[in-house]
Amino acid sequence: MNIPSRLRDSQRLEFLERKTMSRTCTICTHPDRKAIESALVAGEPSRVIAARFCTIGRMAVQRHKEEHLPKRLAKAQEARESANADELLRHVKALQGKAASLLLQAEKAGDLKTALAGVRESRGCIELLAKLMGELDERPQLNVTINPQWIELRAVIVQALEPYPDAGQAVAAALNGAPA
Ligand SMILES: [Zn+2]
Repeated sequence: MNIPSRLRDSQRLEFLERKTMSRTCTICTHPDRKAIESALVAGEPSRVIAARFCTIGRMAVQRHKEEHLPKRLAKAQEARESANADELLRHVKALQGKAASLLLQAEKAGDLKTALAGVRESRGCIELLAKLMGELDERPQLNVTINPQWIELRAVIVQALEPYPDAGQAVAAALNGAPA
């Protein structure tokens, strides 16, 4: 390819980019891609960014901003949300396990007041867990409903709730939509 020699470096780059348009994106594969994207997100003009990272052209920055950045940002957001949901789910499961074990202890000791408090606590956890699982339905890698611990815990809770039909019904309602 003949690049006119009178052009300055940045102009030569743009010339090259026009010639190789939309083949590979020099920003997507750029070692400083994150810094470039941060600058774009911060609203820095393409021309300023191109000048700062002297091996890229303004047009490549502009094209990356329009065609690739939105998708990349959406993906990053998705990943952050999954991580948060996973962590939340772990917390709720831990809480639920604790509430269920306290419930069993209280029941064994004949302490109905504490047992009822445990039932309420378990119910809250299960409601939250059911909600979370509803939101996570589209993520098959996180299948809580076939987790052995979960199945065991469900059985324990259902059994423990037998003397308390009202609480039992409330928990059953909370469990609706989460297949056994
Ligand atoms: Zn790109």
